[in-house]
Amino acid sequence: MERKKIIIVGGGPAALMAADVLTPHCQVAIYEKAKTIGRKFLVAGKGGFNLSNSLTGPELLQQYRPTGFMNACLQAFDTEATRDWLAQLGIPTYIGSSGRVFPTPPTKPYEVLKALKNKLLSKGVVFHTQHLCTDFDQNKLVIEHQGKSAFITFDYCIFALGGGSWPVTGSDGNWVEMFARKEIKVLPFEASNCGVNIEWPDAFVQYHAGKPLKNIQLQIGNEVRRGEALVTRYGLEGNAIYPLVPAVRQALAQAAEPLLLLDLKPNNTLESLLEKARTKPCTSKDYAQRFNLDTMELALVKNALDKFTFLDPLKFARALKQVPLYVHALRPVQEAISTVGGIDLQELNADFSLRKYPRVYAIGEMLDWDAPTGGFLLQGCFAMGSYVGVGVLKKGSAE
Ligand SMILES: Cc1cc2nc3c(=O)[nH]c(=O)nc-3n(C[C@H](O)[C@H](O)[C@H](O)COP(=O)(O)OP(=O)(O)OC[C@H]3O[C@@H](n4cnc5c(N)ncnc54)[C@H](O)[C@@H]3O)c2cc1C
Repeated sequence: MERKKIIIVGGGPAALMAADVLTPHCQVAIYEKAKTIGRKFLVAGKGGFNLSNSLTGPELLQQYRPTGFMNACLQAFDTEATRDWLAQLGIPTYIGSSGRVFPTPPTKPYEVLKALKNKLLSKGVVFHTQHLCTDFDQNKLVIEHQGKSAFITFDYCIFALGGGSWPVTGSDGNWVEMFARKEIKVLPFEASNCGVNIEWPDAFVQYHAGKPLKNIQLQIGNEVRRGEALVTRYGLEGNAIYPLVPAVRQALAQAAEPLLLLDLKPNNTLESLLEKARTKPCTSKDYAQRFNLDTMELALVKNALDKFTFLDPLKFARALKQVPLYVHALRPVQEAISTVGGIDLQELNADFSLRKYPRVYAIGEMLDWDAPTGGFLLQGCFAMGSYVGVGVLKKGSAE
């Protein structure tokens, strides 16, 4: 039987995983518009480079929104499968204290990408970089390269064009127009796993921008997260804030100015802080030492309180557990670690093919889903790539 011709557009992790599953059973070619593949993957490597997470089963499924959308993919290819797959690539991993999965040192991000690319090359995958896809229909694509357009036919096509953040990597979301022209609903990109804008007083920014808030707790509504945040000129960044972004986004959409409550002393009960405040003498000059606060923490509480409340030790102690911070906006899409928005999930069949184009699939961050940082984004992309690869193989062999 003749091998099916599969075109994959985009050279990110979702695409590369699909290519690995499909070869050598099919002829696979990858078309990537940037000069090199995997540029956002390498950017991810500059930060924590969480390739996956240690969560499995229902706890893993719970990380993804909308609920249930990723279940079949993650059940078929979970975090343990990702680690096994990486091990087969020659990339050993370890689980960090936060449950995140990292490549074992001294493995560098480019080495992970290189190992994957070499594997795909050895299996016969053909890479076409600097090839931009500008259109498609039921069995062919339009590809632009060096100022010329060409039609490329396929048995199946898989789009993995990425979200809208970090456009310098190639994942610029410019593909949206190509799908909108075909009346495929695409939702506007919005920032996720991003910082928030908070209007700090000038003097506060001058002295404290760039300093970390360690061991804090943030709350919005019923959502509570512990961790760290970095005070920046514009507001806050960091692992305590990112998981709260969906709730902040929702509140902003309702035209509210979301209130974040900052607990500077999550390990202390309110009663224990009040007890410290009751021990006399206690004036505002004693606060730093008595409550073990640095100058930035003290300034944060001072900014939030009027003078009389600040000078009252009991009220000050209470405020330590809930410093109010008003969020004005999320950081711009371009800066975010990931985006929501993209192809509306209603446009997809359960196997990730497009309802209007059943031989064409869409996977990865170009779809409207969300997950927190901590390896869940790459895990989601790998799981979708694997799931669709297996699905295309089955569909192709049944024809
Ligand atoms: C700073 C940062 C840190 C991150 N850290 C982590 C982390 O530690 N852990 C984690 O799980 N995730 C992390 N992520 C997120 C993760 O990198 C992305 O979710 C993931 O890369 C998305 O993969 P993808 O395959 O869907 O698309 P992408 O990796 O975005 O790839 C899409 C590709 O498609 C190409 N393309 C687009 N349009 C066209 C077209 N018309 N024709 C041809 N090619 C096209 C683009 O050039 C791009 O190369 C991080 C992201 C950032 C920005």
